[in-house]
Parts: sequence; C-alpha cells; structure tokens
Amino acid sequence: MKLKTIRTITGNIRLLTGLHIGASNENIEIGGLDNPVIKDPLPGSLAPYIPGSSLKGKIRSLIEIRQGAIGKNGGPCDCGKKDCPVCPVFGTSAANRPEDLGPTRIIVRDAHLSKKWKKLFEEGDLPMEVKYENAINRISGVANPRPLERVPAGVEFAFEMAFKVFENDPEDYFDTVLNGMRLLELDALGGSGSRGCGRIKFTDISIDGELQSENFLEQIAI
Ligand SMILES: [Zn+2]
Repeated sequence: MKLKTIRTITGNIRLLTGLHIGASNENIEIGGLDNPVIKDPLPGSLAPYIPGSSLKGKIRSLIEIRQGAIGKNGGPCDCGKKDCPVCPVFGTSAANRPEDLGPTRIIVRDAHLSKKWKKLFEEGDLPMEVKYENAINRISGVANPRPLERVPAGVEFAFEMAFKVFENDPEDYFDTVLNGMRLLELDALGGSGSRGCGRIKFTDISIDGELQSENFLEQIAI
C-alpha cells in the first residue's frame, strides 16, 4: 500500500443557531451551570471549541444513516470492507480490520475559534448564551427549566481535515466526506439539535488550498 497524497479541507464553521457540545459536569461549582459547553483545556484559555471527535463522529453517523450502513445495536458500522462507504474513510476497530483496508483516511482536527472570534473572546466580548429548556411534567403541568449553555449564533470556528489518498483508492472515498459535510449542514451539530441548536454552515472552504465558491456544498447531491 502506497500513500499517494494527503488532501486537505479547511475553512470555517459558522453557527447559524447556538451550539451546545456538552462538557463533563465533574468540576462544576455550586450554583454553576449544570450544562456547560466544552472549553479548551489549555491553561488560561477556557474558550469554547469543537472537538475533532465530535465533528468526525457526527459526519460519520450521518453518512451511515444515509447509506444504511449501521452497526450492531445502532453503533458505528464496523464491517471493515473496502467498498463500505464508511469504514475505509472513518476507521474501524482493529479486530475487524483486514490488511488491505489500510489506515483510516481522514483526520479531523479540533476546531478552535477563528481569529476574529478568538480576539473577541479574549477581550471578554464573547459571552456564552444561556438558554432555558423546559421539561414539562405531564401530570402536574409544571415546567422545570434547565439552563443550557450555548456558543451564540454567528460565531465561527476554523476547521481542518486531512485526507490520505492511497494508490488504487476510489475517488468516492473523498466525495463521501463532502457528502457528509453537506448532510451536517442539513442536520445539526452537538446537543439539542431537534430543539434548534447546532445548525451550522461551512464557509470559506478550501480544498488542497484552493478556495471554493460560497455555495460549493449546496451543489453536492446527497
Ligand atoms: Zn463498514
């Protein structure tokens, strides 16, 4: 197996609605928010970010749903076949990995605030938003509001994906990723998607350093 090239997809993820990717509540102080967004663990940063694993996992799951390639008990596809729309690109567990499948093609890096928004955050001008979601008791009719922290709409994160192309890899491995990105635009990222959170748009997309048109993804058939 020989690596032919490594392709790149870069750009921004613009939030069209507030984004909630949950953090663990372990270190929450008394009176703190019980549903915070995940923050950069770098000392002194505490800026919200989108973990590469969240982005990759969501894109993968949407492709699986689209292609009907879903694993046991609703888990990820783990067939390990070369013609699977998911396994060669997004990886499979070692146990099921046939030798000719090769390494996972895609790497999705953590998406941090883009330059402009990072500056605003550091200057204290990018407060997180708190949205109250009501759980309504079906018998008493009493609403029980829960605070949900969100990164506000409008904010942009810089994303980056690297994609390994091996000799004899079909072209549609790469197309799968673009498809998945479009599916994500039509779905939602993070939690509470069915309640309006996490609608995003990929903007300023460059493929192998070449800037694409603003409606590049919209033209992709899913
Ligand atoms: Zn598979």
